[in-house]
Amino acid sequence: MNRYDQFFINGQWVDSKKNFASIDPSTEIEIAQIASATAADVELAVQAARQAFDSGIWSDLSGQKRADYLHAIANEIRENIELLSRLEVQDNGKPYAEAEWDINDAADCFDFYANLAKNLDHNTEQVIPLPDARFSSVARKEPVGVACAIIPWNYPLLMAAWKVAPALAAGCTLILKPAEATSLTAIELGRIAEKVQLPAGVLNILTGIGSDIGPMLTEHPMIDKIAFTGSVPVGKHIMQSAAYQVKNISLELGGKSSFIVFEDSDIEAAVEWIMFGIFWNQGQVCSATSRVLIHADLYEPLLNRLKTEAQKIKIGNGFETEVKLGPLINQKQYQHVCTTIQNGINDGIRLVSGGKRPPHLATGYYIEPTIFADVPEDHPLWNEEIFGPVVSIRSFQTEAEAISSANNSIFGLAAAVMSQNSERCNRVARALRAGIVWINCSQPTFCQAPWGGYKQSGIGRELGEWGLDNYLEVKQITTYNSSEPWGWYLK
Ligand code: NAD
Repeated sequence: MNRYDQFFINGQWVDSKKNFASIDPSTEIEIAQIASATAADVELAVQAARQAFDSGIWSDLSGQKRADYLHAIANEIRENIELLSRLEVQDNGKPYAEAEWDINDAADCFDFYANLAKNLDHNTEQVIPLPDARFSSVARKEPVGVACAIIPWNYPLLMAAWKVAPALAAGCTLILKPAEATSLTAIELGRIAEKVQLPAGVLNILTGIGSDIGPMLTEHPMIDKIAFTGSVPVGKHIMQSAAYQVKNISLELGGKSSFIVFEDSDIEAAVEWIMFGIFWNQGQVCSATSRVLIHADLYEPLLNRLKTEAQKIKIGNGFETEVKLGPLINQKQYQHVCTTIQNGINDGIRLVSGGKRPPHLATGYYIEPTIFADVPEDHPLWNEEIFGPVVSIRSFQTEAEAISSANNSIFGLAAAVMSQNSERCNRVARALRAGIVWINCSQPTFCQAPWGGYKQSGIGRELGEWGLDNYLEVKQITTYNSSEPWGWYLK
């Protein structure tokens, strides 16, 4: 059994002075003691990343050489897919098949940014045409510096990959701070970095309690960039603390994304994608299409089909075959989701299905797939991110009404639209105020395409070439080439 009570700092394993427990959400039993960083550990990690950046051991390498390391990390992730998937199931609770999917995606993400790193060698400098022939100018891309990646627990290794891969590709050094609920695969990433002999200090893994060490990281003067994925309240804190040094920040925050289903939709496809949009990963998905607008003509038949299929989902420990819904991440999240459901019931909202702990599961943070219908637009079930397997549904009559209802939100991460009329789908997709819009599906995500939100869902974009730009500064270098004097003061 690997140890998890150490930090990976400056290419070495450093013993912790204190630890915290990691709990398996399906059994509620402790599975590991995790190193809990103190101020001294934060300082050590930041100094290591700073020194590695300032020495140029990473940023001065060619893009091709950095790409070789990133491909090697991708290969190691694939080599260890079984271990990593098992750890993800134990730590997070998700079904094994979903964990395996995530780990493959994480490996693909490292390969994708490896290829962009190679291109950086050729595309680093762009000649800027100027209107004055005496001058020439180039725009250059350079790494931002020392980055700190703070990530959530819903896709532990994948969220790490979304930040670590582009940051390393760009030439940044970094500190990765995983969520306290799911530190295991992040620590394994440290072991992989060690195995591929990533230069010391380039990637440092600091586990710990976010409210303790988070502010130390976000306010640290030696960190140039904060890349955060997590909740809106913590994102707001980070924005405030990063303001002290006007740090470069990118924020991927929460959502309450709408799925509009028109009357001409295939009912079976609608059932499949609505369920995938909210029950995958127990609904703990920032982009979950957790509120659904169904055209009045299809409303009751679709609700009935959804109810039937939702009740067939096998709930249980992620290691059991055919399980498609595991436990929620922890007691706190379980309580939050149970309270939200109970408040909906108390307010008289129509409960179509679910709403309680599955009778056959006495331990673990399990909740049945839950469907509410006729949810008023001003109810918290419609407006607030629940982050659980709970979908809120209402009907609509016109396209304009559906768009207006979908856009009526403080969030703008994602949205989905379904219809057999592609012209209508494309029109609606362009009218939705969200960073990601799916047509005739919900959730499929590709590391080539940009990811991020409008409004309070965040700032900046991850993935694709946009994800690389997150970790690059742009510098202009302008040269006066003429032998003629400038002639302003000296005539
Ligand atoms: P969270 O905000 O509680 O925690 C996220 C991370 O921030 C953790 O590593 C935590 O330790 C750390 N943290 C906590 N307090 C901090 C502080 N004061 N300073 C710095 N760091 C601090 O979020 P969570 O509960 O882990 O994840 C769920 C949330 O993440 C949901 O709101 C979800 O929508 C969002 N999310 C968004 C995306 C996206 O791409 N937009 C993806 C996944 C999750």
